[in-house]
Amino acid sequence: MFVKTWGGWGNFVPRRSAMHEMGIAMEILTIASASIPEPLKGAKVRSIRLKVGKLTAVIPESLRFCFDIVSKDTPLSGAHLHIEEIPVVARCKACQNQWTLSGPSFSCPFCESGKLEILSGRELDIDAIEIEEDDDGKPVKGKA
Ligand SMILES: [Zn+2]
Repeated sequence: MFVKTWGGWGNFVPRRSAMHEMGIAMEILTIASASIPEPLKGAKVRSIRLKVGKLTAVIPESLRFCFDIVSKDTPLSGAHLHIEEIPVVARCKACQNQWTLSGPSFSCPFCESGKLEILSGRELDIDAIEIEEDDDGKPVKGKA
């Protein structure tokens, strides 16, 4: 059973700090918990689907590690984070060409202009939450 969330940070500004992923993990916990509808409150969450742009500088493994810590003793404890990494797509404002950035190069490969528009790669969205169900399709109660 999937529950749609209202979560998302829009255009997330990347900032690299030691506990970058810890802060994000706490946000995910807050938004995901708040997105569970009233009749399903306390149900065990099997997984959380996230869209994470490459520009957010989030390391999926670190995020999973931090989420395990912050979700301890909550109904979201043990939930698996499905992290879909979104590539960085840029468009050149000079020649209108569009391409996927693979390295730290921020100039147009077609005309070498430095005037780029970033079309994707800043996402940090919680797409959906999956509630654990028993064999009869009933939600399973979480621990907390
Ligand atoms: Zn160009």
